Amino acid sequence: MTDVPHIIVIGAGLIGLCTADELTQRGAKVTVIDGRAGPCKGTSFSNSGMIHPSQARSWDPEVDDTDAVLDAARVTVALGQCSKTLLTSKMKRFGMPERPDGCIQLLPSLDAARAMQLTQNAIGVRTDVLMDEVESFGRPACHFPDDSSGNAHLFGCALADDLGARGVTFIYEARGLDLRRSDETVAVRTSEQHFQCDHLIVAAGAGSPDILAKLGVRLNLSLISGAAADFTLPRDLRGLPSRPIMDSESRSALTVFADRLRVSGGWNVTDPTALITRWREIAPQLFEQIGPPISTWTSKRPISPAGRPYISATSVPGLWVNTGHGHMGWTLCAGSGELLAEMILNGRQDNRFAFAG
Ligand SMILES: Cc1cc2nc3c(=O)[nH]c(=O)nc-3n(C[C@H](O)[C@H](O)[C@H](O)COP(=O)(O)OP(=O)(O)OC[C@H]3O[C@@H](n4cnc5c(N)ncnc54)[C@H](O)[C@@H]3O)c2cc1C
Repeated sequence: MTDVPHIIVIGAGLIGLCTADELTQRGAKVTVIDGRAGPCKGTSFSNSGMIHPSQARSWDPEVDDTDAVLDAARVTVALGQCSKTLLTSKMKRFGMPERPDGCIQLLPSLDAARAMQLTQNAIGVRTDVLMDEVESFGRPACHFPDDSSGNAHLFGCALADDLGARGVTFIYEARGLDLRRSDETVAVRTSEQHFQCDHLIVAAGAGSPDILAKLGVRLNLSLISGAAADFTLPRDLRGLPSRPIMDSESRSALTVFADRLRVSGGWNVTDPTALITRWREIAPQLFEQIGPPISTWTSKRPISPAGRPYISATSVPGLWVNTGHGHMGWTLCAGSGELLAEMILNGRQDNRFAFAG
């Protein structure tokens, strides 16, 4: 290894960018490689903006609350809380507007909200029961005061610019990515360039399993699609909720950003039509005042079977993973980047998100 380690990060989404940020802060020379034409054009492009440690529990309707699942939720809540603090300070650095703390989750009844309050408290999530005309459209809900929100795409683009100014090299539109073991390290080729590095981090979201397979490493991830629709906000619209509202039934959220309203999420949905229908039912008066969507989007979230991300070394020396964040990648990006940078550059031992492949 040279005095200043050269680290390649594959993936310029929220996870890869935050990892590059933390590595650079610790003195590494970093190259970020992505197949797309710029930062945050994958799953990080149009998410719901919720910074929600409260949602660390698996969203998979097939997964029961076993001890292993609750353990995964507890460690993910803890990482989410650290990540939120770090992410908030990064957002401030980029002059992003402060938003009211908290996210709301709609439940079918007040009894269901009280039951959720108990289960959330058991995994370390502060929870209030709420029913408010504006903040929960008059429906029973839980309020998670330790959650937060922000525009993930704006943040990712600001961070990529900042990293570029701090000397990080970005290779966009990389084609024909190939990885080879080379002596003690891993060599990376694209159709145009060849790189040697001391460490290679795969933070390529849904593309991670195929990349790792080139080195014989099998990463078990399911790809669960979600969708989004953006609407223009009429200027005179009053009484908009100030915090993102999540609907338990459709696993989707309604978020008011500075310039738009977004309906997004869903579990295995490939277009937002059903989500929009559901939100029209929840908030008919609001949807009477806004027109059709100005854009729609769909993407896949990579999700590990245990419901916790992989932030870890692998069986190949110098090869690391930071992926599998599922519906939590915006929440966990800063903390995941910090944790992996500490493991690689400062020898931190942490098995909470270990990967056995
Ligand atoms: C509808 C929806 C709503 C969501 N809402 C929230 C939310 O409110 N809060 C929250 O915390 N999370 C949310 N998420 C999850 C969050 O957006 C993701 O977990 C996060 O964006 C994942 O970031 P990433 O960097 O791992 O992946 P990505 O953003 O997909 O980045 C991976 C990058 O790797 C690149 N790549 C892949 N394969 C290759 C290859 N072979 N060669 C070169 N480059 C490659 C891709 O081009 C991409 O840029 C939501 C997700 C969806 C789909």
